[in-house]
Amino acid sequence: MTHELVVSCRDSGQSGCLPAVAPSNAALARWCASRGWPVHPLAPGRTTPVADCEACGRPGHSPDGCACIQAGRWCHGFQAATLDFARIERWWSTQAGLGVGVACGSANLVVIDIDAHGQQPPDRDRLLPGIPIPRSVDLGGLANGFHTLGVLAALRGEVSPADDETTLRVRTPSGGLHVWYRAHGSHRWQCSTGSDGHCALAWQVDVRAHGGYAIVPGTVAAGAYTVVGPAREPAALPDWLAHELARTGHLPPAHVPAPRPVPPRARQAVIAAGGDCGPAGRAFAGVLGEVTACEAVPEGDAFSVKLNRAAYTAGGLVAGGHLSKAAAEQALREAAEHARPGQARRYGAIIRSGLDAGLLRPLSPGGHA
Ligand SMILES: [Zn+2]
Ligand SMILES: [Zn+2]
Repeated sequence: MTHELVVSCRDSGQSGCLPAVAPSNAALARWCASRGWPVHPLAPGRTTPVADCEACGRPGHSPDGCACIQAGRWCHGFQAATLDFARIERWWSTQAGLGVGVACGSANLVVIDIDAHGQQPPDRDRLLPGIPIPRSVDLGGLANGFHTLGVLAALRGEVSPADDETTLRVRTPSGGLHVWYRAHGSHRWQCSTGSDGHCALAWQVDVRAHGGYAIVPGTVAAGAYTVVGPAREPAALPDWLAHELARTGHLPPAHVPAPRPVPPRARQAVIAAGGDCGPAGRAFAGVLGEVTACEAVPEGDAFSVKLNRAAYTAGGLVAGGHLSKAAAEQALREAAEHARPGQARRYGAIIRSGLDAGLLRPLSPGGHA
């Protein structure tokens, strides 16, 4: 049942609930900022941030340390999001119809984005990553994210976020639903999309957290984003859902150093092993990155040690069924060639012996990978 956004308090600015009916977008932005939610403008009538300046749009330009952000410009979308009222006033007065995005991570929000796209469901193994659905379960009526999330909640004996009346829920113009929650603790929840078979909560369910933004209700883009149900505030992220997010790879690895670059074909093998947000893919990316980084250290035996460790890890992942042996070997060769060009004979021997040793010790990287 859809309710209109109602006026539930007179003050449309500083506190309490959402601003009154049809507030200006600047007022929406101020309201968010007053709650400690950094905001950034969306292109008029669209769900995407306003365009970067030309310099920021150039290939190879990084938002890290970008002068535009430091100068208070809106380049780089959520990375430029602000709590500064003067900046908000300036941004939202430059042109009409700028929508409002909230940078979920710095706002400490986790938004569950449920889609209702009419698509053919994928294989049943990909509906709820990590949860095999027995052949005996009839999935005939399953068609969208409301259903997959409903199945997950039912399996856990919980209310689906789609039906969670205790928290802010926002109907999207395409019939989807955004369910807003407050994160608690120090977890840095990560974004995901439901079509990623490995790092996803459920098919047709995206997660918006660190690295993403949410569209504030009241914004209009191909239709209005409208609050449904009684709640006007995000509730605390339910424990069961936090547990599911952790299980499905929405937390950054605890002790893994900053990821090192991995050559492109080796990258494919990482993706085949589940990508960076799955434990197997992350473990493989970590050891491959260490091999690649030996490029900077042309002498010493660190290269042999790291390549041996990478090959051993890869062998374990192959034995554990996370990766094919051919893909593992090719990725190791590419990383090694990157670090020690033209030394195929030397590194080939290390790779073979490391792989063979690892194949005897199947690896199943778990929560503390
Ligand atoms: Zn710029
Ligand atoms: Zn920039």
